[in-house]
Amino acid sequence: MIFLPNNAKSAYRQLVQTGEIPHDLPLYVSIAPESDVSLAPPGDSTMFVLLPLPLSIMERPEQMPLISAHLKKQVLDRLCTHGIRIPYSAIAIERVRTPLDWAARCGLFQGSAFGAAHTLSQMGYFRQPNRDRNVSGLYYVGASTVPGTGVPMVTLGGRMTAERIAADVC
Ligand SMILES: Cc1cc2nc3c(=O)[nH]c(=O)nc-3n(C[C@H](O)[C@H](O)[C@H](O)COP(=O)(O)OP(=O)(O)OC[C@H]3O[C@@H](n4cnc5c(N)ncnc54)[C@H](O)[C@@H]3O)c2cc1C
Repeated sequence: MIFLPNNAKSAYRQLVQTGEIPHDLPLYVSIAPESDVSLAPPGDSTMFVLLPLPLSIMERPEQMPLISAHLKKQVLDRLCTHGIRIPYSAIAIERVRTPLDWAARCGLFQGSAFGAAHTLSQMGYFRQPNRDRNVSGLYYVGASTVPGTGVPMVTLGGRMTAERIAADVC
């Protein structure tokens, strides 16, 4: 489920341009046991929530615990407005991953979980190509290159890179 902010334009402007955390964030929520009951103990469930944050968050790592607590409240309040009531006491186990974790644990540049954004200057021809434009024999794969981020795109990109290498070598 994707919950969009009431004022999406303002929220995305804050995220991308001013580097603020909007009061009303878009949420991506997945409750996997709804389609596969084996993913939670009988009578319990799991919930995965993904929130976009501005890159500016990386400049204030000391505030991350406070920000996380604030965002958790924002998420639970938002779900509550849609009739999904999850009291704090019902949460048995909680894991929070922040852009700081993506940077430290996965080596992701600026903690960006999805690589280079799909802004106009980084899309299509302007996105990092699979084959370097200047250095012969240098190729790229992954979320920040062509065609884009996400497992399907990255897998496709890997195949495109392999095809380019094969075409250059043969
Ligand atoms: C929370 C979250 C949810 C997501 N949800 C989805 C989703 O629902 N659907 C979807 O399609 N995509 C999703 N994505 C995006 C998707 O996971 C990425 O776009 C994709 O994994 C990127 O693939 P990649 O090969 O470029 O990088 P990665 O999968 O990050 O692989 C890079 C690998 O390189 C390793 N590495 C880094 N630095 C070094 C180094 N110096 N030396 C050796 N190894 C190194 C890393 O450990 C890692 O294993 C999600 C991402 C996150 C973080």
